[in-house]
Amino acid sequence: MSPKSPPGVVSIDGSWKRAEGAAEPEAVDATPSIRRNRIEPHRDIDKLTGFEIGDDFTPFDQKNDVFSRANWDENVRSDKALEFWAAYIMPNARARKADGYSQRDYALRNAAWHFTKAFATLKTGSEGRHEGFNDTFTLHGPGWPEKWDMGDPAETSKDIKKVARLFGADDVGICDYDPRWVYATKFNRLDQSSRPPDVDDSLTHVIVTITAMDLDLTATVPSALAATATGMGYTMDAVTLMSLAQYIRNLGYNAHASMNDTALNIPLAVQAGLGEYGRHGLLITKDFGPRVRIGKIFTDMPLAPDQPTSFGVTEFCNMCQACAAGCPPKAIPFDKPKNDPPNFSSFSTIRKWTTDAEKCFKFWTAQNTECSICIRVCPYNRSFKSRWDKLWRWLAGTRLRRLALWLDRFREGGRRNAAGWWLGKSE
Ligand code: SF4
Ligand code: SF4
Repeated sequence: MSPKSPPGVVSIDGSWKRAEGAAEPEAVDATPSIRRNRIEPHRDIDKLTGFEIGDDFTPFDQKNDVFSRANWDENVRSDKALEFWAAYIMPNARARKADGYSQRDYALRNAAWHFTKAFATLKTGSEGRHEGFNDTFTLHGPGWPEKWDMGDPAETSKDIKKVARLFGADDVGICDYDPRWVYATKFNRLDQSSRPPDVDDSLTHVIVTITAMDLDLTATVPSALAATATGMGYTMDAVTLMSLAQYIRNLGYNAHASMNDTALNIPLAVQAGLGEYGRHGLLITKDFGPRVRIGKIFTDMPLAPDQPTSFGVTEFCNMCQACAAGCPPKAIPFDKPKNDPPNFSSFSTIRKWTTDAEKCFKFWTAQNTECSICIRVCPYNRSFKSRWDKLWRWLAGTRLRRLALWLDRFREGGRRNAAGWWLGKSE
């Protein structure tokens, strides 16, 4: 699309676009008063997470994430971006002869995304909501008018974790509600306005869930087939989060189920003790490495927060650059953490490794599917079920981490053939 082209509104299913030549609506300042108050940039928990946050910190505006920018920013929006979104609906998929991009590969990927997409777009036409990606889920029952006496918050937390696992979570942690990570405003892809987040400071805790993505499918990255793992991750997330939120509502408490919308998942997951932040800008968990999707529920249920954890990831990433070297558009930094992001799709007030979201998204659109090469090549991308993987993790967290990095060459981190996945599964 040339810079002069009219704006196109993109969605996960590519089904709604602005009419040719339609005027771009003005973005409104919908920041609720609660968000206009200055948010304290520092919290005690930063000493445990290692977050280095500047005094001039302000919460992120969702309008500036690269997926939102694909709607309104000429530097990100393109014909390829529109094709990328549209391809989640057959027959828009750009099937081709390359391994992993056949009609069958896209058919599986799009089927894996189907459930999540159906929920995400339920209220798009009527309310401009894109639930799970821009807005919290609203498809829940009425709950109970009075609060059940939950008793000891530590015991309640154990119960909640048990129920989360019953509903499909592979791991779960709890942290305090932290307004720093809630978007200043969320973005409405339909009319490109900004509006207040669905949550506020009356909520006291965040339950953060982890859903592991399939190891064998991820091994075929880059391919349309590999993105089936992402679609399944979101689908399982949606089931877990909506069911758990309904359980909490049935006990009389407030609960907002959320996937990629409303707040930044990674700092909340780190605060909830689910893993550490990696050079590739992703969460690295102890049991699944970076091969996870993160969901969350904001609630006022009295709970006991978990503590952040460390198993040596930061020190390992200081030495390992596998993701930076493996990223085709070189979107991942080789150097030390900085607070000098490549563009405004990332915080400038937090010292950290920052992936260049523009370069990354451009590569996705060129491939016509998501990319997770940085996940595949990461030495922590293991099942951690074998004794060997557990031993490797221990080693990686010691002064012998250089040996662990050398030993990683014996892990099957290279791309596996997508056709081989089909053969393996059908045997
Ligand atoms: S998803 Fe792909 S393009 Fe994006 S940072 Fe990772 S390796 Fe690079
Ligand atoms: S590939 Fe290496 S540097 Fe990158 S996140 Fe994984 S461990 Fe860290």
